[in-house]
Amino acid sequence: MSTDHSRAVSDIASQLTALSRRGKRPRVYRGGSNSTRPAPHAETELVDLNGLNRVLAIDEDRCEALVEPNVSMERLVAATLERGYLPPVVMEFPGITVGGGVAGGAGESSSFTHGLFHRCVSEYEVVLGDGELVTASPTAHEPLYHALPGSCGSLGILTAARLRLRPAYPFVKLTYYRVGSFAEAVAQLSELCLGSGGGELDFVDAIMFSPERGVVMVGTSTAAPGSPVRRFRRARDEWFYLHAERVSRRHSRYTEYVPIRDYFFRYDRGAFWTGKQAFVVTGVPFNRATRFMLNAFLNTETLYTALHGSNLSYRYLVQDIYLPRQRAEEFLQWVSSRLKITPLWLWPVRPDERSLFSPACLSTDLVIDVGVWGVPALEFYQANREIEQRTLELAGRKMLYAHLYQPEEEFWRAYDRTRYLELRRRYRAEQAFPSLFEKVRTRYPDPLKTSVPAGAKEVFKSKLVRA
Ligand SMILES: Cc1cc2nc3c(=O)[nH]c(=O)nc-3n(C[C@H](O)[C@H](O)[C@H](O)COP(=O)(O)OP(=O)(O)OC[C@H]3O[C@@H](n4cnc5c(N)ncnc54)[C@H](O)[C@@H]3O)c2cc1C
Repeated sequence: MSTDHSRAVSDIASQLTALSRRGKRPRVYRGGSNSTRPAPHAETELVDLNGLNRVLAIDEDRCEALVEPNVSMERLVAATLERGYLPPVVMEFPGITVGGGVAGGAGESSSFTHGLFHRCVSEYEVVLGDGELVTASPTAHEPLYHALPGSCGSLGILTAARLRLRPAYPFVKLTYYRVGSFAEAVAQLSELCLGSGGGELDFVDAIMFSPERGVVMVGTSTAAPGSPVRRFRRARDEWFYLHAERVSRRHSRYTEYVPIRDYFFRYDRGAFWTGKQAFVVTGVPFNRATRFMLNAFLNTETLYTALHGSNLSYRYLVQDIYLPRQRAEEFLQWVSSRLKITPLWLWPVRPDERSLFSPACLSTDLVIDVGVWGVPALEFYQANREIEQRTLELAGRKMLYAHLYQPEEEFWRAYDRTRYLELRRRYRAEQAFPSLFEKVRTRYPDPLKTSVPAGAKEVFKSKLVRA
């Protein structure tokens, strides 16, 4: 480990012990976030991880990288690609970090085969609640190794991760297959991921634009692109979901070639389709020219800032629900008829029953995550509560980056609370960090933020313009 890294880690341990001595239970702060649950209040004590943003080493012989937790996906891809390698799982937003991806249980369209991002990590360096530094791996502190993913920083502070890498490839051959119903989409995802041909595929996800039309998108890595080559990161490129929507109207099957970085971060501009709301709220027409002109303000990081700053996150529902594939269609039908939200994003994930707090810790042969992002037909709080209840009934789990309104007893029905408390005691987290529930719950109405401010539109607009 470099001296700079060791110094930064001992600084974190000192911050933590000093706060514990004062009876405080701090949260970690890394200088930003892709979580949409409300940011902690100003008076919350924080341990600052801002300095931990280095790629410490890339070992080509062992196909491994050692990285600090604030390394973003964009930087991780740049650093590994330079050496001819890539992580097997790269989250769709360039600003998502290694630490946030592990502690938040994140993944992407290669997760049907590789699992969520944390499955690429062979070893964690962790500062425990009393400041002790440990290494957690399948052979050392194994319970901690399996409990960290999805625990949202409530068991320890991740200060480095050793990641598995795979040889890089410059392009993805991407084929779109039109589907005509939720049932067809789920059946096709299941067949692709579990059938005999699944081993040849690298990426699988799907979008349902309406209950009657969607696309399943299948990618394979390739060194030699054919035609056409399509890009999604420049201002003049179309937002990915709009492109996919047009493909689904015109073709039952269509293939194109996408440069690897454009593929990984294809949903960044417009944050899938959630960025369209910025146009609705501000009254700016939503067309190719306005998207081009406002491009600099429409990446994920800027949109998150605007969303939080304006409190519009109390209107616009953002939830990701992991379900056993056998229950996914029922959930999709319910969302479409009850909440009336489309488009819906679907991505298949390899289940992981060993990682206790991972959203993919479900008993099934394939998990399907459904991204539900939009203005619900029901009152906001009721819509969130109904989603939470449906998720439990269907034996699923919510991703914890989003608003959470469950009472504590209901929340723990999805997790092994006894085991969690045991781990908190064993790794001295009890007195040092807020519990998982304390950390992720949303108070409604929030005592400090109340509800959406009357001038939300203006605030949103000014944030967007100033950002
Ligand atoms: C529209 C939308 C689409 C999304 N799509 C996807 C998607 O496709 N795939 C996906 O997986 N996710 C998706 N997300 C969710 C997002 O990936 C997760 O919120 C992710 O965990 C955020 O990463 P981050 O680096 O910003 O983490 P942060 O928000 O910074 O942190 C996440 C959690 O981890 C904790 N944490 C961060 N760093 C550390 C550390 N070093 N040690 C201990 N704890 C730490 C934080 O305290 C926090 O509780 C989406 C979100 C939205 C709004």
